[in-house]
Amino acid sequence: MAAPIRLRDFQRIVFFTGAGMSAESGIPTYRGSGGIWKEYDYQEYACQAAFDRDPEKVWDFHDKRRAAVAKCEPNPGHRIVTRVQEEKPSTVIVTQNIDGMHQRAGAKDVVELHGSLWRVRCDPENVVRPDETMPMDPRKCSCGGYWRPDIVWFEDQLDHRVVRRAREALEECDLLVSIGTSGVVYPAAQLPRIAAERGAMTVEINLEDTPVSSLYRHRLRGKASDVLAELYG
Ligand code: NAD
Repeated sequence: MAAPIRLRDFQRIVFFTGAGMSAESGIPTYRGSGGIWKEYDYQEYACQAAFDRDPEKVWDFHDKRRAAVAKCEPNPGHRIVTRVQEEKPSTVIVTQNIDGMHQRAGAKDVVELHGSLWRVRCDPENVVRPDETMPMDPRKCSCGGYWRPDIVWFEDQLDHRVVRRAREALEECDLLVSIGTSGVVYPAAQLPRIAAERGAMTVEINLEDTPVSSLYRHRLRGKASDVLAELYG
């Protein structure tokens, strides 16, 4: 593939990443074969009602997800994204992933739209903190309530401060590179539109067309790490 653009020609880059970014690390995507919600019913494991009903069961599930992610390593695509951020510190990574892989690859200041597997929070006490214990321990906060994974579960609202940071980055970027997202999870999926409307160059990297492909000036088909390597040059 002859790269239609080169990352080095842009100053303010936003990488907008989804589950396909981590697929080459061995973390299953959301849709498609091996997708986690084919095996588990989210209403049992990944919504506030399930947690309120049976927090131990929900934590057992999240412990398994932590263990699965901890076995995986960042892939060459994550490393290219980090390298670009090191070379151009105004680069912003906005991710829908909760796996922490960008940070493990050395990225800074990642905007995590859907939270993180590696943080917990206590809503009554309004406390959020990092937690990488496996299995998560202790599951209860000193207030007596359960720590909750700091993840945007099904039916949860996104944190408006996080969305604002993402919007600001997209308003200011001169290049948006979307990587490995099916573009069907809202409201995250509508964010790239901001960059397109502001006149930024837009690139979609995916194995296949998505419902939002027409938004992008360049639609590059292939594995995230291969296409990023071409764009990095
Ligand atoms: P998705 O599973 O809906 O879509 C993944 C997309 O990546 C698909 O369009 C697929 O064609 C593409 N893809 C797969 N492998 C690829 C590769 N090697 N290179 C390039 N593209 C590839 O993912 P989504 O759009 O991120 O939405 C899923 C939701 O579930 C998100 O909200 C996310 O928070 C969550 N999720 C997160 C993880 C994670 O943290 N790693 C994993 C699964 C789901």
